[in-house]
Amino acid sequence: VNRNPHETEFHQAVFEFVETVMPYYLDHRKYMDARILERMTEPDRIVSFRVTWEDDQGVPHANKGFRVQFNSSMGPYKGGLRFDPSVNASILKFLGFEQTFKNALTRLPMGGGKGGANFNPKGRSDAEIMRFCHSMMTELHRHIGESVDVPAGDIGVGAREIGYLFGKYKQLAHFYTGGVITGKGIPYGGSEIRKEATGYGVVVFTEEMLKKHGKTMNGKTVAISGSGNVAIYAVQRAMRMGAKVVTVSDSRGFAHVPNGFTDESFAVLQDVKENRRESLAKFASEARGATYHAGKSPWTVPCDVGLPCATQNEIDEQMAATMVKNGIMCLSEGANMPLTAQAIHVLKDADVIFGPAKAANAGGVGCSGLEQAQNAQRLSWTRDQVEQELERIMRSIHEQCVEYAPVRSGIVDYQTGANVSSFARVADAMLAFGYI
Ligand code: NDP
Repeated sequence: VNRNPHETEFHQAVFEFVETVMPYYLDHRKYMDARILERMTEPDRIVSFRVTWEDDQGVPHANKGFRVQFNSSMGPYKGGLRFDPSVNASILKFLGFEQTFKNALTRLPMGGGKGGANFNPKGRSDAEIMRFCHSMMTELHRHIGESVDVPAGDIGVGAREIGYLFGKYKQLAHFYTGGVITGKGIPYGGSEIRKEATGYGVVVFTEEMLKKHGKTMNGKTVAISGSGNVAIYAVQRAMRMGAKVVTVSDSRGFAHVPNGFTDESFAVLQDVKENRRESLAKFASEARGATYHAGKSPWTVPCDVGLPCATQNEIDEQMAATMVKNGIMCLSEGANMPLTAQAIHVLKDADVIFGPAKAANAGGVGCSGLEQAQNAQRLSWTRDQVEQELERIMRSIHEQCVEYAPVRSGIVDYQTGANVSSFARVADAMLAFGYI
């Protein structure tokens, strides 16, 4: 706390990690003697810069851009870019820290990083978004590279933004290196399944957790928050597993679909959010059986399985208590840190099966790793190949968690499993390098 004053999100992420890893740490002197925890909670470096751009009225604006290069023990830095007015060093450090361990769980050669800008893309025209992305890359390109640091998307950065960012990189670098950024469009080096990967991966991981406890997604009522990249494909994959998906949300409220999404209402969701970039209220007005509840949280709706896929700290202690009262039995984090530390305790104390973000949402970066592999091979794999590989990665992450997880009242503690397993991997690499 003294080293990083006022960085509340970063403190929260580190405390959550350290709380579960400490018994293992204290049991292994080699880590303590090398002060591994102290070292791995400090990023390798942070670059911060000005992003100047011009709006459609010719007015100049200046935003703050960042790249946090957290830890490269496992490989080149890897992690998304977030465009949101809330972006600051604390949020990106929490995300970069989490990313380091998440990437270690995929077992692909990827270190951890994160970046972005405090830019609000909402209400901006396509031309403004393009100018912003081009200006952002004009500085960012000095700090990234196929073997150095490989960004991708996150909140506010989807396929359109990645296209503009990659285009500018290509122009500035003067050579074509597809592997410098992931989440690219399929025609210029992107991977099949990448846009679906995080949402699909969350559902695959959740099914693995349920199977381990003698249950399944089939027939379960599932509540989902968010209606962005992760949420949309979590809805689709949960439907494929035979679940009844009853909610999606955005920053202004949630849509309730009491009888569950159908292929028809899912197609409306995709069209409204992905193609037309309109509001969720618009979705509810067009989809049969859906209603929109402004200013309300989806977590008041009873469900068996919860998949928060919007943003950090959307579920606090009280909300978690409501979910337990309403009968939730499993929750997997699609978003990064969607639960406060107290909310996690409430769920775990009530024997809810809990899938932490590090493990549950690693499918996105896992598939980004597969995109890099395809770019390096100068090949494109088929949809089936990528999806099978993604599922293999998610099942392997589940196994790694189980290997390190204590079991309490018959419930596997995936949070401790994910943290200890990934800690050991990163720590062993850092030990091998000596004091650097
Ligand atoms: P998108 O920008 O595509 O979607 C974000 C969604 O969350 C939107 O529905 C948005 O609503 C909602 N949202 C944003 N801020 C808030 C808020 N303060 N309160 C309530 N709802 C909010 O982002 P992604 O789907 O890509 O990312 C969602 C989460 O998943 C993030 O935590 C991200 O870090 C994490 N993640 C993403 C990965 C990826 O591959 N994209 C990989 C791993 C994790 P609105 O439209 O109103 O803003």
